[in-house]
Amino acid sequence: MTSNLSKKEPQKDLKYKRVLLKLSGEALMGTRDYGLDPETVQRVAEEIGAVVAQGVEVCVVIGAGNIFRGVAGASEGMDRATADYMGMLATVINALAMQNALEKINVHTRVQSAIPMSSVCEPYIRRRAMRHMEKGRVVIFGAGTGNPFFTTDSAAALRASEMQCDALIKGTKVDGVYNADPVKVSDAKRYEKLSYLDVLAQDLQVMDASAISLARQSQIPILVFSIFHHGAFAEVVQGEGLFTLISDEGTKLC
Ligand code: UDP
Repeated sequence: MTSNLSKKEPQKDLKYKRVLLKLSGEALMGTRDYGLDPETVQRVAEEIGAVVAQGVEVCVVIGAGNIFRGVAGASEGMDRATADYMGMLATVINALAMQNALEKINVHTRVQSAIPMSSVCEPYIRRRAMRHMEKGRVVIFGAGTGNPFFTTDSAAALRASEMQCDALIKGTKVDGVYNADPVKVSDAKRYEKLSYLDVLAQDLQVMDASAISLARQSQIPILVFSIFHHGAFAEVVQGEGLFTLISDEGTKLC
């Protein structure tokens, strides 16, 4: 099984050699109100493909806000843990959609699920996932952490730590972290750099607190950028373009 590997020779000056891309489920929804927009999924897959072509090792965690969120189910009277398991299953649907879109453009992939479903994808096995990435395959992690009461942000920080990623790159609708929603507040302030503690202390709504804390503990920088800006992912992995950097070197807010 060594013949069809897509591993590219890495460019010598890669800023980040191995990255985890976190996408919310809504990033795959396009203009729809629910579910998956195939064109959007394909476009995001092409953004990922461009980064793989640079020789960067890429793994991906996708949420499920486009299909089902546990808290929404719980607010309608469902048992929270059951609702969360439904949310985790929904992330596997998104993972399979992304796998399909990546393979269409000849990017080799594996889906690994934290909840074993052996006829659909591989179970999550850390060392196997690392080996896939060394071989140039994009590993898409489904089913979050496998535990209710967590989010896929936490899953992203967890897998990025386990995979020893150089960066956790969060694709959002906007080009960084703002002090208010820039879609609603016209003079919202955009941050170039933040420390993990800034994000926690200011309760900036970019990732949940447990994800930020784990990234901080693992000393993995978080780069927040717009997945809707064509070519941005390829720029960000080179440390270029527009993004907010969250790390211990981040400027302390006053
Ligand atoms: N979820 C969970 N444990 C995890 C990850 C996710 O229970 O480790 C469930 C939870 O119900 C969550 C849903 O899966 O609401 C979808 O994930 P998330 O809300 O993080 O998706 P996103 O907002 O990124 O689209």
